[in-house]
Amino acid sequence: MKTVLVIGGGVTGLKASSELAEMGYNVTLVEKEDYLGGQVAKHKYYKLAPDLRLAGEVIDPVIKAVENNSNIKVYKHSHVAAVSGNAPEFKAKIKNSKGESEENFGAIVVATGFEHFDPTVKQEYGYGRFKDVVTNAEVEEMLNPGGPTNGELKRPSDGETPKKIAIFQCVGSRDRQVGNPYCCRVGCVVSTKQAIEIKEKYPDSEVYVYYMDMRMFGRGWEELYGKAMEEYEIIFTRGRGAEVTLKNQQLSLRAEETIMDRPIQHSVDMIILAAGMAAGEGTIEAANVLGIKQNDYGFLEPKDDFVSPNESSKPGIFIAGADKGPMDIENCIVEGAAVAAKVASSLKN
Ligand SMILES: Cc1cc2nc3c(=O)[nH]c(=O)nc-3n(C[C@H](O)[C@H](O)[C@H](O)COP(=O)(O)OP(=O)(O)OC[C@H]3O[C@@H](n4cnc5c(N)ncnc54)[C@H](O)[C@@H]3O)c2cc1C
Ligand code: SF4
Repeated sequence: MKTVLVIGGGVTGLKASSELAEMGYNVTLVEKEDYLGGQVAKHKYYKLAPDLRLAGEVIDPVIKAVENNSNIKVYKHSHVAAVSGNAPEFKAKIKNSKGESEENFGAIVVATGFEHFDPTVKQEYGYGRFKDVVTNAEVEEMLNPGGPTNGELKRPSDGETPKKIAIFQCVGSRDRQVGNPYCCRVGCVVSTKQAIEIKEKYPDSEVYVYYMDMRMFGRGWEELYGKAMEEYEIIFTRGRGAEVTLKNQQLSLRAEETIMDRPIQHSVDMIILAAGMAAGEGTIEAANVLGIKQNDYGFLEPKDDFVSPNESSKPGIFIAGADKGPMDIENCIVEGAAVAAKVASSLKN
């Protein structure tokens, strides 16, 4: 039976690997970092939207299903340096600090995920200039009891708990100026979840969300939004954040409120930027090594979005998860299973 190469050990690549192994295929999983779990592990997500379920309950079994399966060989801290041949006879060179090896594969799955948009590009928001302007990924780490602040939301400038917190949506998404007109698809639900987590922990805090539209299309998302407004009294204001300034150690934000069509000036203690999902360097590197097509934003392009969403532009090379574009975990798990089924049927032919 042919071996399958899976590139990327986030939730998508892990699910694809364990599904293939359960079908009896041998799998080689190559991950560039020294841990599995992708962005969920990197940024120590604590509770997941929309259910506020512990992230460990979801990701730990997915990791264990790979680690405990003898059909799966895992290379961490490794990368695929070169690939030659055609389906179903590929040869891949896998490199790490111990050296390199060349192995044969029948099919390749690319599950290299995304990177967070770099908010320093949006200079007007002050990220990198003002310590108390932080990203949603940094807040994930802070809210985790095993994270750098032991689960407490702290102002990086003085270690104090902020009382007034503003969240800016769509940072680096739906933004033609930075070349990302697409929607990040998870920012609205993640900000709503983080706002609730903050209010649960600090009921006296005031949390303000500045949004263009609330895109709550997933399972349970709209209900979470209703709960945020009604039960937690989180204040959602329709209007995009325009600028952040710092005067006498006080953060001040300017936004355009679009319902009443008026400018807003607001002093707060911390600003959280809902930074979008961008194509990562690892995805661009994999696309170049494999010679598969990317779209205008660097994400991997399916052969046909409607009828073959998990096939790349090259036969025998399959794509899944957030390397195709922003996607939540539930859909990544579905994608991991779907790509495994597609690979299995292609190898039977
Ligand atoms: C702040 C934030 C909070 C979020 N919270 C939630 C939430 O609460 N609920 C939810 O459903 N979704 C959430 N998401 C979305 C979630 O992070 C993604 O759905 C998920 O991480 C995508 O999984 P993936 O495996 O496709 O990609 P990733 O998690 O990015 O994993 C890809 C893996 O591939 C590896 N890799 C990359 N390139 C290479 C290469 N060339 N060679 C080898 N390895 C490589 C990476 O190191 C990484 O381990 C959140 C997103 C953000 C930005
Ligand atoms: S999901 Fe929400 S925050 Fe993200 S780009 Fe879309 S509208 Fe903006």
